[in-house]
Amino acid sequence: MKALRMLGRALRLRCPRCGGGPLFRHWLEMRERCPVCALRLERGEQGYQVGSYMFNIVLSELLFAAVFVAVVVATWPSPPWTALQYGGAVMMVVAPFILFPWCRTLFLCFDLMIRPDVDTPDMPWDPEQESEERREERGKA
Ligand SMILES: [Zn+2]
Repeated sequence: MKALRMLGRALRLRCPRCGGGPLFRHWLEMRERCPVCALRLERGEQGYQVGSYMFNIVLSELLFAAVFVAVVVATWPSPPWTALQYGGAVMMVVAPFILFPWCRTLFLCFDLMIRPDVDTPDMPWDPEQESEERREERGKA
């Protein structure tokens, strides 16, 4: 099933369309295009990643809720309220950073399922044909 295969690729931080990668320069920075199939990872829209940020917030809150309920149920009738309070705060700061790459690839995956034909690579993609900004960044490194 195509949708499950795409979801599996996204969960492995690979390109949902072709399974290629790597899609990330480092943990918090995604490439402009898939290095294998040249899929535009921002899909050519301004503010495209707002959807993945929403994914990130929702997943972080769901993770917090699951851990909170599990700890309360496991330690009932005397849950460690203070530990839950401070641990929950720390978790809500740390979880979005940890979940960030999965939220990017999962959002891309769902977007490809809903709008598979939006990205049409203009021409055979040359990896050296990146934006000026990226070239300058690499020049510094
Ligand atoms: Zn690809």
